[in-house]
Amino acid sequence: MALIQRKLWKQISSEEIKDFVIEEYKKQSENPCPVDKMKKFTDSTRRTSCGECVICREGILQLNVIAEAISEGKGRDGDIEILTEISDDLTIGSCCDYGKEVGKITKKIIEEGIEEFEKHIKRKRCDALICKKFFSYYIAPEKCNGCNKCKEECPQKAIAGDKDLIHVINSDICDRCGKCTIICEKAAIQKAGAVVPKLPQEPVPVGTFKAEPQNGGGLMAARRRRRS
Ligand code: SF4
Ligand code: SF4
Ligand code: SF4
Repeated sequence: MALIQRKLWKQISSEEIKDFVIEEYKKQSENPCPVDKMKKFTDSTRRTSCGECVICREGILQLNVIAEAISEGKGRDGDIEILTEISDDLTIGSCCDYGKEVGKITKKIIEEGIEEFEKHIKRKRCDALICKKFFSYYIAPEKCNGCNKCKEECPQKAIAGDKDLIHVINSDICDRCGKCTIICEKAAIQKAGAVVPKLPQEPVPVGTFKAEPQNGGGLMAARRRRRS
């Protein structure tokens, strides 16, 4: 594989290399999380580097390792600076346009998504709910019809429930594979970040679960009661 790529990059023009790298980047254009974007872009481009020069071979790999750690909640102070430095090194020091173009794009991903990178590292938060470490799946009780399809689909056996019961996901077991979200015809399986809505602790008959009043509902109700 490496030999084929080495031959390929030396045979094609700068423009063709640039187009190839940009096409790889475009595959992530709809990805709303810059950390995940960095992770996926560097994962694909490290595989097509010919590996001849150290900065390209090791640099892209390091970018990928750091982005992966950040997405798993293991980001550290200084990671953004290291990512930026490696990107610059790639742009300046790579021995062909492949590494240079990758470096330009990774720097762009950092600059455009710097606030999100900081949130992942400092607040352990992914606003787009893409990084698995930072969200959980839950079943919206008002939408679930108790069809039981998600429970049959779940490879981790993380869903409790039976026919005509509102199903419940055990987040400690769920590995966020998302398979249940595809099978559910009621779009009842949703993502939550730090704040999870009130849910039944265990399966209850469909239609019986009452969510808490919205924020302020309790206070308003109390005021109404005092006036009457
Ligand atoms: S920058 Fe170096 S390692 Fe990367 S593709 Fe070009 S020749 Fe290969
Ligand atoms: S969450 Fe969806 S698939 Fe699972 S029981 Fe409820 S409606 Fe059916
Ligand atoms: S996301 Fe995957 S592991 Fe989690 S409940 Fe759904 S199917 Fe099961």
